[in-house]
Amino acid sequence: MTYRIAITGAGMGGLAAAALLAQDGHAVTLFERFPAARPLGSGLVVQPVGLAVLDALGAGNEARSLGASLTRMLGHSGPRIALDVSYRPGQPGLAMHRAALFHCLWQAATRAGVSPKTGHTATGTRETSTGIDLITDRGSHGPFDLIIDAAGAGSSLSPLTSRPLPFGAVWAHVPWPDTDLPGNELRQRYHRASRMAGILPIGRLPKDPTPRAAVFWSLPTADLDAWPTRDLDDWKTEVTSFWPALSPFLTHITEKDQLTPARYSHGTLATSCSQRLIHIGDAAHRASPQLGQGANMALLDAQALALALRLPLEDALPAYRQSRRWHLGLYQALSAAFTPQYQSHSRALPALRDLILSPLSRLWPLPGILSALVSGDLIPPIAGHAWGAQDR
Ligand SMILES: Cc1cc2nc3c(=O)[nH]c(=O)nc-3n(C[C@H](O)[C@H](O)[C@H](O)COP(=O)(O)OP(=O)(O)OC[C@H]3O[C@@H](n4cnc5c(N)ncnc54)[C@H](O)[C@@H]3O)c2cc1C
Repeated sequence: MTYRIAITGAGMGGLAAAALLAQDGHAVTLFERFPAARPLGSGLVVQPVGLAVLDALGAGNEARSLGASLTRMLGHSGPRIALDVSYRPGQPGLAMHRAALFHCLWQAATRAGVSPKTGHTATGTRETSTGIDLITDRGSHGPFDLIIDAAGAGSSLSPLTSRPLPFGAVWAHVPWPDTDLPGNELRQRYHRASRMAGILPIGRLPKDPTPRAAVFWSLPTADLDAWPTRDLDDWKTEVTSFWPALSPFLTHITEKDQLTPARYSHGTLATSCSQRLIHIGDAAHRASPQLGQGANMALLDAQALALALRLPLEDALPAYRQSRRWHLGLYQALSAAFTPQYQSHSRALPALRDLILSPLSRLWPLPGILSALVSGDLIPPIAGHAWGAQDR
């Protein structure tokens, strides 16, 4: 059973869905608003569940060759350990530059026969007697049996209105310097929940052998608003006095525009589909990156939808929704619960984190539960699918 499918957005979810659906024989047309491939941001972690999706679409080995294996996440609040989570032995996370992940997904989609239509901004849809049309700024396209909205947090097709979070961050990527920090761990440093700095090894960019790090600095939204007027040297002085180990990383930041401001929001669509239009990834659910799951959720959505679309269309969309419902709900709830411990003006929550939750988290069986949590498989990511025994 194959369908005519339009996908909006050549991001993490859109490219993965395009590759998987084209591999299954569907006629896929992918629309992207940017005239050329343009991944934004710096680093992210592909968790083991996301890596399994990359393996299913034939991009896992290339991703591993570019990314940095991540075995542990360690955060200090003054002298105290506030976060210490290790991945399961032999199942690390994969920290990557966003452009490297984008490259792997783009290659997989084009290998599967998809040629993305760039320079098309989706603006609406129109149901007809023969299917559904996609309206872009360049006209009407279709008919399609199904439109998959994978246009991310800025989707114009999604009705999701998410709640802006009170903190965001500035991010940069720099060459990995001469440092004592390990090249296989995410390291963070906090002051209460109002200040946070982090270093994430992210491997390399395609065609560039230089190993890199993502540097991030948490900021309340008011400070993000004022970011354009902030003096770079003044900011670097503040960061290095907060965490002197960051100094060799910051020497590579010489221009303000090397730092990308990011704002976060939280929300989940109550119903992520109608008869012929379905939303996946950030178009359907958004969360802060504190649990490092957003791209993984988009990859999982893509795989779950591709599996469901082996059914008749009227059964496929409800089956898709059901297969992702519990995993998505759980991770959205956990993200909402954890984020204020690391990014908020609260004094009570970080004290609870440092004095009670963190010591408790090192007692059996919590280390194993936390490993499963960050790996993305605290519960089956795609219900009804034999996870780990990919059927491709
Ligand atoms: C600073 C930061 C750090 C993060 N860290 C992590 C992490 O460590 N781990 C993790 O898993 N996730 C992380 N995330 C979240 C992750 O990046 C997102 O959840 C993920 O990219 C969502 O994928 P997506 O495919 O839904 O959307 P996106 O990847 O955002 O792709 C959307 C695409 O749609 C295109 N588009 C938008 N509007 C239109 C339109 N109208 N018409 C056509 N095309 C359109 C865009 O140009 C883009 O190419 C982080 C996010 C941020 C901001």
